[in-house]
Amino acid sequence: MQQLSGNLFIISAPSGTGKSSLIQALLQRHADMQLSVSHTTRAPRAGEQNGVHYHFTTVDDFKARIENHEFLEWAEVFGNYYGTSRAAIERQLAQGIDVFLDIDWQGARQIREQAAGTIGIFILPPSLTELQQRLTNRATDSAEVIAGRMAKAQNEMSHADEYDYLIINDDFAATLHQLEQIVLCQRHRFASAQQRQQPLLDQLLAKPIK
Ligand code: GDP
Ligand code: ADP
Ligand code: 5GP
Repeated sequence: MQQLSGNLFIISAPSGTGKSSLIQALLQRHADMQLSVSHTTRAPRAGEQNGVHYHFTTVDDFKARIENHEFLEWAEVFGNYYGTSRAAIERQLAQGIDVFLDIDWQGARQIREQAAGTIGIFILPPSLTELQQRLTNRATDSAEVIAGRMAKAQNEMSHADEYDYLIINDDFAATLHQLEQIVLCQRHRFASAQQRQQPLLDQLLAKPIK
């Protein structure tokens, strides 16, 4: 991908850990952070809006988009297809917006190969019992679907070491604070800060920094 000024974050966690809730809470506090809206072939849950939570689509349409190379990555998760649109992310990053990808470890691997400088954050639940409780309390999935997600959780967690940061979502407010610190910190890494502060650097320095 071309040189862009926003940072790209991959957030992964076993289903039910709280990643969607954490990302939504973070976005409410920062206008210059956005979520990449994935395409999916799974059916919308109650309350999910097309274009907001996902772009809901058919298997045929999804496959046509794969053929057209529209996805930066795509994967089959829990029997449904999920994919990240390349064009939308490039547009957001070019505007200096920090973009979050809520994707699984398979997608994370594909993104790392294509987009250098991507920052991976893995979120763990405090225990498997608590994870099961959260999936049950969320009341969006059947007992069968919850069992399937619990069965996949340990495999997903076994990829945590492929990420740059690890946080545990025990107390929600504390976890949100940790996530926010990680994201804000990246803006001060030299390469990021330089892109944002180029006019000032040009003004202050006789010779441009390469
Ligand atoms: P959740 O796990 O309860 O949030 O359920 P979702 O249906 O929202 O997500 C299911 C899985 O698909 C999760 O592991 C996500 O990380 C993953 N996922 C969502 N969007 C994408 C995407 O664009 N690409 C990839 N590779 N994975 C995605
Ligand atoms: P994910 O996107 O990882 O599948 P969600 O954001 O949907 O997870 O969260 C799963 C459920 O757990 C939701 O009902 C959410 O309100 C709840 N939850 C999230 N974080 C916490 C936390 N720290 N403590 C207790 N419940 C939580
Ligand atoms: P859910 O069906 O609960 O919304 O999502 C199931 C899983 O798919 C989650 O772990 C989520 O992170 C993952 N997922 C959602 N969108 C994408 C995507 O675009 N690409 C990939 N690879 N995974 C995704």
